[in-house]
Amino acid sequence: MRVVVIGSGHAGFTAVNTFLKNEEDLEITMITEDPYPFYPRPIIYKIIRGEKPENVIRYPKKWYIDHNINLILNKRVTGIENKDNFVTIEDGAKLSYDKLLITTGSKPFIPPIPGIHDGPVYCLRSIDDALKIRKKALNCETKKATILGGGLLSVELAKALSEIGIAPTIIDRSPYLLRKQLDGEGGYFFNKILDKSLDTRFLFNSTCQKIQRNGEKMTIEIKDVIGVSKYKCEFLLNATGIQNDNSLANKAGLTLGKYAISVDPHMKTSMKNIYAAGDAVDIGSFPGSKFGIIPTAIDQARIAALNILGTEIQYPGTVPWTTLKVAGIDLTSIGDVTMESGVEEKGVVLDFDKGIYRKLFFKNQKLRGVILIGTRENLRSLKDLIMKKASFQEVKNELNLA
Ligand SMILES: Cc1cc2nc3c(=O)[nH]c(=O)nc-3n(C[C@H](O)[C@H](O)[C@H](O)COP(=O)(O)OP(=O)(O)OC[C@H]3O[C@@H](n4cnc5c(N)ncnc54)[C@H](O)[C@@H]3O)c2cc1C
Repeated sequence: MRVVVIGSGHAGFTAVNTFLKNEEDLEITMITEDPYPFYPRPIIYKIIRGEKPENVIRYPKKWYIDHNINLILNKRVTGIENKDNFVTIEDGAKLSYDKLLITTGSKPFIPPIPGIHDGPVYCLRSIDDALKIRKKALNCETKKATILGGGLLSVELAKALSEIGIAPTIIDRSPYLLRKQLDGEGGYFFNKILDKSLDTRFLFNSTCQKIQRNGEKMTIEIKDVIGVSKYKCEFLLNATGIQNDNSLANKAGLTLGKYAISVDPHMKTSMKNIYAAGDAVDIGSFPGSKFGIIPTAIDQARIAALNILGTEIQYPGTVPWTTLKVAGIDLTSIGDVTMESGVEEKGVVLDFDKGIYRKLFFKNQKLRGVILIGTRENLRSLKDLIMKKASFQEVKNELNLA
C-alpha cells in the first residue's frame, strides 16, 4: 500500500513511526515544505541562542533512508486529486497514494493592528524563523524587542532573547501570563518568580493599537486602563496565537469545520482514503481536547495511522498537558484549569520562599485539572487521576496529601 503523509511535524512524524511499528509492507512518502526533517518545535529557541539547526534535528536524513521512507523536503503540496488518488507538488510533479494523511499544522496568527504589515514582524514557527530572529537580534541597535502576546511562546522567546542580550517587553491584554495554562493566582505567582530571573518588562491589560513605521524603526502605541502611551522600537515579534491555512483542503473540496479540516472519530476526512491529524484538524467535535498542542497532534496521528492500516479505532480525546522549564522554573498544567461556576480549588500550596505553587481543580467532585509550579512531584499520578476523574478523597489517598 502506498501512503503519503503531507507534513513532517509532530503529527506526521508520529504517524510514520506508527506505520513502521505496525506494518512492514508499506511504501511511505513524507513530503514537507520545510527544508529540514522533523524537529520538536519546543526546542527551536535553542537556535535563537546560537545552536546549529542540525543539533535540534533528532532523526537525520539517514534515518529515513534506513527505514525505507521516501522523504521529500522543501516542497509544497499544492493540490489533491482524490478521484485519481494523487497529490500535486509545486514543481508540477505528482505523487500517487492509496491512503493520504494530511498533517499540515497551523500558522502564526497576526493580529489586524494598523501598521503591522508595513515592515517586518517576526514570528517563531520553524527553524528558519528562529534563524531570522537570531540574525535580527544580533543586529538590533537598541538591544530591545517588543513581543505581542503573553503565552508560552512569548515567555520562551523572552528567555531566549534575554540570553543573547536583548531586553524584551511583553504586551498582553490579559492580566497575567500563560492564560491558557494558569489561573489568576498561578499567573501572579509565576510572574513574581519570573521577575527574579528574567529581565523583561510586562505590560498587562494592554493592547497594541497602532504601529507607525519608519523603515526598520517604529513607534508602538499602547492602550491600557490609564490611557494611551507610545514608545520607540526596532524589533517586533508576534506570538498572539495560531490559525489554519485551509487553502489546500479548500481547493481539494474537503469539508471544513469552524476553523480547519473536519474529521470523524477515526480521523477520516469527508473524502475516501484521506485522513487528517494534528493542528490541521478542527477539534470542535472532541470535547475536552485542546487545539494547537503536541499531545493532541500525537494522539490523533497515532489513531489516524492505525485506521489507515485497517485497525478500527476511535480517537478518545486528549487530556491537555503542558510542561515547560523556563528560566529554571518547572511549570506543568494538565487538564482543564479554567475557573467557572461549580469549579472548586483544592490541595492548594502557595510557597513563595520555596517557589512552589500547586492547585487541583474539581468539578462535580471529580478532578479535572492541575497546576504545578516549581515542582514535578506526582506528575504522572496526577495525569492518571485526571483521566480517571478521581474524587478528592481518592487523590488524597493516592498522593498522601494532608
Ligand atoms: C516554538 C514553538 C513551541 C511550542 N511549544 C509547545 C509546547 O511546549 N507544548 C505543546 O504542547 N505544544 C507546543 N507548540 C505547539 C506544537 O508545536 C504544535 O501543536 C505541533 O507542532 C502540531 O503538530 P502538527 O504536526 O499538527 O503541525 P506542525 O508541527 O505545524 O507541522 C506541519 C507540517 O506541515 C508542513 N506543511 C504545511 N503545509 C504544507 C504543504 N502545503 N505542503 C507540504 N508541507 C506542508 C510544514 O512544513 C510542517 O512540516 C509549540 C509551537 C511552537 C511553534
